[in-house]
Amino acid sequence: MDLIELYMQAFNSLPFYLTTALSGGIFITYISKKIISSSKIRKENKLRHLKLYRSIGEIKETNKEKNNDELTKLTKLFFKINDKKDYLNIIKEIKIPEELKEIVNTFVQNIDEENLKYCAQNLKTVKIENKNIIKEIKNYLSNLDKSTINGGLYYNNTNNIDIFIDSKQILSHEFIHMCTNNKTNCGFNLDTPFNEEIGLGLNEGYTELLNQRIFKYKHCAYSKNVGIVKLLETFFDNPKDLEDAFFHNDLDKVILQFCKYGTKEEFFNLLENLDNFATGTIPLKDFAQYHKLQFELYEIIKRSNDPIKIQNFENILFQNPLNKILKNGFHLEPLNKTSKRLK
Ligand SMILES: [Zn+2]
Repeated sequence: MDLIELYMQAFNSLPFYLTTALSGGIFITYISKKIISSSKIRKENKLRHLKLYRSIGEIKETNKEKNNDELTKLTKLFFKINDKKDYLNIIKEIKIPEELKEIVNTFVQNIDEENLKYCAQNLKTVKIENKNIIKEIKNYLSNLDKSTINGGLYYNNTNNIDIFIDSKQILSHEFIHMCTNNKTNCGFNLDTPFNEEIGLGLNEGYTELLNQRIFKYKHCAYSKNVGIVKLLETFFDNPKDLEDAFFHNDLDKVILQFCKYGTKEEFFNLLENLDNFATGTIPLKDFAQYHKLQFELYEIIKRSNDPIKIQNFENILFQNPLNKILKNGFHLEPLNKTSKRLK
């Protein structure tokens, strides 16, 4: 989780020493460095999605068999979880790290048991390490390649959580990453056979959306990713389907549902934008792109001809007053040319 984004939205809830440390000089350095590194990251995001896009054929809802071939090629996913085990009892037996006890308790009350497999599996061995944030900031400033300051990190290969600041919101976010880790993939963030990963921005958006919902945080990190994922949820007949897909690393399910109304190109455009918001932030560009993407998704969901889905989408879209203005702005009447000129 990127610390600065959280800082910009929720600096009141961060410890005082940190708000002081991040003010002024460091903040300005951060913004300038971010713009340079973000342009590079965005170019990489573009190339990566182009490569992945070209690697698979068209996805059509009607062509199920072909879809399976194409998607398996993309996501290397051969396994699905079918075993319904007694995950709650397994979790009860685990000696849970003190700082996670309350988080686990709330989490298991809000998530279906069949989605708790990796929680039960990884909770046994997870290690939490408290890191020094000042060191992290110094490291960031002295390392040109380091493009962000992290508030927390989860490593799926070692099952370790690094916490740079003592915030429950950061810890529970990293904890949710742990609950979706099947050792190769985390949630919607998957390895592909083309030595490229896919779904990073989508994964951060859904992880933080759940984090905010389950633990009732007022502010959220990855706010644009969360905003878009909320709209994507309305593409599903039941929003729980997206949650199940997330805990089963099943990006295929998302692609298939999206491509009932949208095209493969539109799906990769969505993924690329979400990656840009998560890793290649350029504030003004993102701001424009965020609103553009919402209206692009609006056009796609309208193709469903499903009044409930369209209504649900509009309810979220027009919660944002700016989107109401933009909607009207797009349909401006031409100026009345016959009106008289007043002298
Ligand atoms: Zn994350």
